[in-house]
Amino acid sequence: MLKLKFVVDEDYVIAHALSWIHNRRRLPFPAWKEFRREFWEKYPKIYYLITGFIEYNIVFCSLRKISLETQTKQMKAVLREIKKDKRVKRLIEETKLYCEKVRKDWERNKRKALKWLSELSGISLPSTTITVLITHPKLRNGVYIGEKIICWGGPEEYPNFNTAGLCHEILHYLTYSRKRSKIMHSIIELLAEEEIRIRLNKKGRYFQYPGRKDLKKIKRFVFPYWKRYLSERKEKNIFELEKKIQENALKKFRPSELIHFV
Ligand SMILES: [Zn+2]
Repeated sequence: MLKLKFVVDEDYVIAHALSWIHNRRRLPFPAWKEFRREFWEKYPKIYYLITGFIEYNIVFCSLRKISLETQTKQMKAVLREIKKDKRVKRLIEETKLYCEKVRKDWERNKRKALKWLSELSGISLPSTTITVLITHPKLRNGVYIGEKIICWGGPEEYPNFNTAGLCHEILHYLTYSRKRSKIMHSIIELLAEEEIRIRLNKKGRYFQYPGRKDLKKIKRFVFPYWKRYLSERKEKNIFELEKKIQENALKKFRPSELIHFV
């Protein structure tokens, strides 16, 4: 059986909330802004390391002969220290409460959701455990980073949002490829955030919610193929479906438009 293990890794929760790439303009709560500024003033090198500016740490390594290892050790000490701060405590507490909610949502829906996921994709699910690292509920997160690790968090846009989103990330695990195909990514969105969402909620329609911006065009192109695939009686196989769409997509899109830039 495919299982999800929900974990609050405190260091990661803090790093994600401070991340310049993901959360420069988003805050878990207003007081976090002040905390972030104080943190930056007190520990600039560690701030770079945690928030996604590691290139500056590489500069220190080259010009000041400080090893990255030393900086990493300092980072661990700083993380221990800041966990005493009441704003960090609040961040962790709110994340733990939210983690319980996500876990309960999943427990309630997993039997149905995994059955549909397997049937619709044509993939038999492996007996394995995927770790789900939960971040603060106000900050958007949703990614499969490899090695059976999903990072997840964020405001719920519709009922059963967490279940549909986790199905999306599980499908990334099941179809993991270095090519980062936008066609497969569109199939994943149609399967999880559209079909499974509607089945779970017993109402709603396709394209009711915006979905990923960078998939918009390709997903519209994939949609008629997906509808036909759903109605066909033959055995399901999303890899075959992807191949078929890919051939036709190349008549309309440049190859570079069909892959994600990562
Ligand atoms: Zn995705």
